[in-house]
Amino acid sequence: MTSGSEGGSKVLNEVLLAGHRRDDAPQPDEAPRTLWKPPAAAAVPQSDPVATLRAAILGKLAYGLGKSPATARDRDWFAATALALRDRVVDASLETAPFPHKRVYYLSLEFLIGRLLSDVMGNLDLVATARAALAGLGVDLDAVSDAEPDAALGNGGLGRLAACFMESMASLAIPAYGYGIRYDHGLFRQLIDDGVQREVPETWLAEGNPWEFERIESACTVGFGGEVAMTVQADGSLRRAWRPAEAVRAVPYDTPVVGRGGRHVNALRLWSARACEPVDLARFNAGDHVGAVSDRARAEAISRVLYPSDGTPAGQELRLRQEFFFTSASLQDLVRRHVAERGDLRSLPDHAAIQLNDTHPAIAVPELMRLLVDEHGLSWEDAWHVTTHTLGYTNHTLMPEALETWPVELMERLLPRHMQIIYLINWMHLEEVSRHRGTDAGYLAEVSLIEESHGKRVRMGHLAFLGARRVNGVSALHTELMRQTVFAPLHALDTDKIVNKTNGITFRRWLHNANPGLTRLAVEAVGPRVLDDPSHLAGLAAVAEDAGFQDRYAAVRRERKEALARVVQDRTGITLDPEALFDVQIKRIHEYKRQLLNILETVALYQAIKAEPHRDWPSRVKLFAGKAAPSYHQAKLIIRLASDVAKRVNADPDVAGRLTVAFVPNYSVSLAEAIIPAADLSEQISTAGLEASGTGNMKLALNGALTIGTLDGANIEIKDHVGADNIFIFGLDAAGVQRTKAQDGYAERAIAASPRLRAALDVIGAGGFSPGEPGRFRPLVDELTRGDRFLLTADFDDYWRVQREVDAAWVRRRSWWRAAILNTARTAWFSSDRTMREYAEEIWRVRVG
Ligand SMILES: *Cc1c(COP(=O)(O)O)cnc(C)c1O
Repeated sequence: MTSGSEGGSKVLNEVLLAGHRRDDAPQPDEAPRTLWKPPAAAAVPQSDPVATLRAAILGKLAYGLGKSPATARDRDWFAATALALRDRVVDASLETAPFPHKRVYYLSLEFLIGRLLSDVMGNLDLVATARAALAGLGVDLDAVSDAEPDAALGNGGLGRLAACFMESMASLAIPAYGYGIRYDHGLFRQLIDDGVQREVPETWLAEGNPWEFERIESACTVGFGGEVAMTVQADGSLRRAWRPAEAVRAVPYDTPVVGRGGRHVNALRLWSARACEPVDLARFNAGDHVGAVSDRARAEAISRVLYPSDGTPAGQELRLRQEFFFTSASLQDLVRRHVAERGDLRSLPDHAAIQLNDTHPAIAVPELMRLLVDEHGLSWEDAWHVTTHTLGYTNHTLMPEALETWPVELMERLLPRHMQIIYLINWMHLEEVSRHRGTDAGYLAEVSLIEESHGKRVRMGHLAFLGARRVNGVSALHTELMRQTVFAPLHALDTDKIVNKTNGITFRRWLHNANPGLTRLAVEAVGPRVLDDPSHLAGLAAVAEDAGFQDRYAAVRRERKEALARVVQDRTGITLDPEALFDVQIKRIHEYKRQLLNILETVALYQAIKAEPHRDWPSRVKLFAGKAAPSYHQAKLIIRLASDVAKRVNADPDVAGRLTVAFVPNYSVSLAEAIIPAADLSEQISTAGLEASGTGNMKLALNGALTIGTLDGANIEIKDHVGADNIFIFGLDAAGVQRTKAQDGYAERAIAASPRLRAALDVIGAGGFSPGEPGRFRPLVDELTRGDRFLLTADFDDYWRVQREVDAAWVRRRSWWRAAILNTARTAWFSSDRTMREYAEEIWRVRVG
């Protein structure tokens, strides 16, 4: 079946799509997707912004949602407010503006955007106006904001980075499209049942999405399977054409991304998969009512759910279908736009920069070649020049188990033409390498696109590397390790290709919106210009020792801690004392991130307090949050251990008031926004060399939490900025990790040398926290005693030592606040505006502003 790809099937396709659209058309009680300005708005004097916005919201509520204020729920007020705000950003949006000289296309399988209302209100400077407009109707803005579901279209750092980059590009007026998948179900909702993680589907679209525009007119078709046909051209040359066996419609939905001040608006274009034919009428008429829609179910499965695997390639065919689906749709879309605006595809590199966020869209290399050569008739040489001057690739991990490879057999079946192109690229690449470097088989095997050690597999990282003009790492250390390890053989061929672009975070969300109290303090101290240019935060250093400023800084923190305590009480029943040091580790649960090291230290501290109950231990709250991949058993066991330790410690009167442990369920962007402004201590304790950058570390330091961490990822650069006196560093560095791993039996020796560690392992291994099931945590203890891949045992004693330095520092509260204020003052460099400026200059060569 090839309908939808060309020629005569087009008409049929449109008829089918029209029918399909009727199926999916909004029912009267669903949120509508059309824009409509209520005539009443015109009658309100423009000089009264509150009344104008209130009238707009009421208009949306009545004529957009069909609701009256009397029956409207918070969710309805949210939708009405979002629709009213969306009207205001349309005029500045990319779709309506004249076309720019060059655009950035950011391809990412994940966009962890969270809620948008406060983002949009903040960037339009309408928070106070919206609050007043709603208050006049007896509606509370905070309740309305809470009614917005989190758009959790990502797993963690990688997806959140893409969301921060989109916001910064809009604020810097860099013309850009984000391209991804509109998953019906984003990352699962995490329930904790008696310590056990349970996953339930997340349903962010259940009541519609007021931010997006469906753009059915820009839909395109993505093929799978089939064969490659060869035809002889008039001039005698051969032309290849892919004849897919299967076709899926890709329908785009645009969400406006509003920059600071509302002057520039980009689009996040997310693709939804639809069947070309909604129903097989022949089968239906023959009585096979289920089989008649099976093709549809197969097609639509592509955008049904986000893969919850984090940092490991999901081996499933569906994952490869997702990757190709959104990559092909995005490239078709931007090629079509370029042809419409400029005509000749050979000028694509002058007008488009395509960034691949990790290898998930690396299939862009052969897909762009296919579009240029097979569909648009460019020569191979011209097409390769265009491709390698348009694409950029960002690497996010060097861990071997996380490097994406696909079996050649699967690629040949699903994407036969792409496999041919990959072989041709590889052949030319190896020819060139052997011309310049000789034919050493070992070296050629290392740089080949095909890995042959366990069955033939395509190395997606190598493919992206060859197809890109620039390849970047995400922190100074990570970029250096790229050059020295995984990409060393390829790096030797072109030493200019790998560049560093240390990650960043958008301060509008992570400081201004998440921590308005601290933002107000900063504005009072250094002026409102700090809202546009975070480098002015540096001015806070001048008041870091001012007792009055410290008191106000502490009062803001105190208020956020009380608010967080209410959230934690509500979700876990655990009572937190806002006077205590809030020590937080919030991130995906992963062995390399070493939540287990933190729990071991918690257990050791618990034992130490019980042994010496009368010492004046400072009170500490240990807060954990994070999701585990559903099939990652060790990670789930770590969650269970944290919960079991919490249960025992929190109920023990011997430690009451000194140590409290809580695992807060369902970590998300919104929960991060509640925890980060309330944190005193930020745990960034990954095994050195394994956390590519981290961005949670930046959010917490910016909000004035002191970091306890290893010399890993961007921690190193955070230390360089805040100063060694204002951060707690411990443990092996990346080189030390390599040296230690080279020695046999390091774990046994470390455990033997540390009575404290041994005691903690013994009580956990013997069921001290799981009396009903003594062997529950044996797998965790066994991993540490036999092997300890992530060197927890090697770093434990130093971690304990530095944690006691934290205790001592917390007691000297004036110098603690000084250090906290200096963290806020000196982390301006970690703004994603800085990161985006660097990409714009050195990778994309696109004008800012
Ligand atoms: C920032 C963020 C992350 C990344 O955290 P790391 O500590 O860098 O791993 C993950 N999830 C959410 C919701 C975030 O906001």
